Amino acid sequence: MAVIITDECISCNACEAECPNTAIYSPGMTYNIGGTEYPALSEDHTYIAFDKCTECVGFYDEPQCIAACPTEAIVKDENRVETNEQLMAKKEHLDKVGR
Ligand code: SF4
Ligand code: SF4
Repeated sequence: MAVIITDECISCNACEAECPNTAIYSPGMTYNIGGTEYPALSEDHTYIAFDKCTECVGFYDEPQCIAACPTEAIVKDENRVETNEQLMAKKEHLDKVGR
């Protein structure tokens, strides 16, 4: 499953640099996949573009952003459960189209 940022976030952006998929964006910023822009998913705090998050599968054993967060604002998104195979396929898709 992807991970999600909750209201505990203070938008310090410590997590952003840790993401191998460039899935983490500042509040209000559009996100981008393969050169296509999509509307921001939060105006209030740093957010994760769920269609770019592989839970770090394909890069690391653990989600890097969760470890980096000082306020424990990042949690598994129970509404977006994905298997390891699906997460790997997502990673390979991003490899192809660009992050
Ligand atoms: S779990 Fe990994 S891929 Fe997903 S947002 Fe966090 S650092 Fe990025
Ligand atoms: S590290 Fe935590 S508090 Fe900082 S921007 Fe990321 S989610 Fe928000």
